[in-house]
Amino acid sequence: MHSSLRADWVLPVAGPPIESGSVTIEDGRIVAVESTPPPGATNLGRRVLMPGLVNAHTHLELSYLHASIPRAACFTDWVRPLLAARRTPPDQQTVAAHAADAIDEAVESGTVLFGDVSNGLGALSALRRSGVAAHVFYELLGFNMQLPGAYVDAARSRIAAEQQTATEDGLEIRFSLAAHAPYSVSPALFDAIRRDTSAHGSPTTVHLAEGREEVQLLADGTGPWRALLEALGVWTDTWQPPACSPVAYLQERGFLDASTLVVHGVQCTADDIARLRQCGATVVTCPRSNAYVGAGEPPLADFYAAGVPVAFGTDSLASVEDLNVFSELAEARRLAPAVPARRLIESATLAGARALGFERDYGSLEPGKRAALLSVAVPGGVTDVEEYLLSGLMTEMRCEMPFPPPQA
Ligand SMILES: [Zn+2]
Repeated sequence: MHSSLRADWVLPVAGPPIESGSVTIEDGRIVAVESTPPPGATNLGRRVLMPGLVNAHTHLELSYLHASIPRAACFTDWVRPLLAARRTPPDQQTVAAHAADAIDEAVESGTVLFGDVSNGLGALSALRRSGVAAHVFYELLGFNMQLPGAYVDAARSRIAAEQQTATEDGLEIRFSLAAHAPYSVSPALFDAIRRDTSAHGSPTTVHLAEGREEVQLLADGTGPWRALLEALGVWTDTWQPPACSPVAYLQERGFLDASTLVVHGVQCTADDIARLRQCGATVVTCPRSNAYVGAGEPPLADFYAAGVPVAFGTDSLASVEDLNVFSELAEARRLAPAVPARRLIESATLAGARALGFERDYGSLEPGKRAALLSVAVPGGVTDVEEYLLSGLMTEMRCEMPFPPPQA
């Protein structure tokens, strides 16, 4: 099927906005993006056509915890009730049902690709049924793990089997291993995960420099994380504080490179930001979650000024109200009022697709890519549509997925 849509604004993201442009689709793929619409194109009027959004950091399997972990003043105060709640998880069907609802809501608010972090693959059945594209990071933990070989091998076997099934079923779901965080992963486990993801040429991810307590633990081995690890019975004196920042720690271990999604980075110093820039890692920022868990505000403007690639995530429903990336963009605009709207929109689309390795199909409107388009109504009086997209689009947004939208 061949059809063309024209709209008052087309945001290809890969290039400058086009006024009164058009997008032509054939067999679910974009074949042309033009400034002179072809004859017979369906006119959508006061709408913006743009690529679907990328949520580069979620934990869909935690959706059942929505509104059950209280807002906290510091990160470890948020973690304690989270750990308590996760000790008695609901049955698999309940986990999957909540994940399915979360996926539906995210898709309705414009998301076409997830970077989903999972410890138990509890959202996988829901992801498979949804048909949405995703990179699933199978996340490993083990603070006092000295010999991670068998653990990593078992995890590799599990995702290899899931990958084969997903591929056979024609799903756009990919898998790789990931590390949770410096306060929950031993040096040996970081190294083993890195070896595995490098061998497979896959992206990997880690929560890094989220709360102040993590910075303190790595600096001198003390503080609330030390106390919590002792209370959990996993502290080990074999773990030596590296006496540096979280970013310096993992960069010097060789864990950070252009295939790494560094999630949060709230506590990054100027030196850390220079290191991230140097190694080519993408920062996945989740500013609403950072506020909720008491981590603070990420230095967003500094990331952009330094040229660090930035993508957006929402984190899980345990620490955020919804999985709407437009809401995350609105918070980013509040935190970084001087960053051009175009760069923030690129982060929520192309940068996320690139970091997840899906840029061949997603992230921009370009010939050859999937027709995963959003069509957003623009109210009268709005002249700067890119800025309008940062205003916190919620229920008033109409986005039609999948293509083609109704002829209205
Ligand atoms: Zn997370």
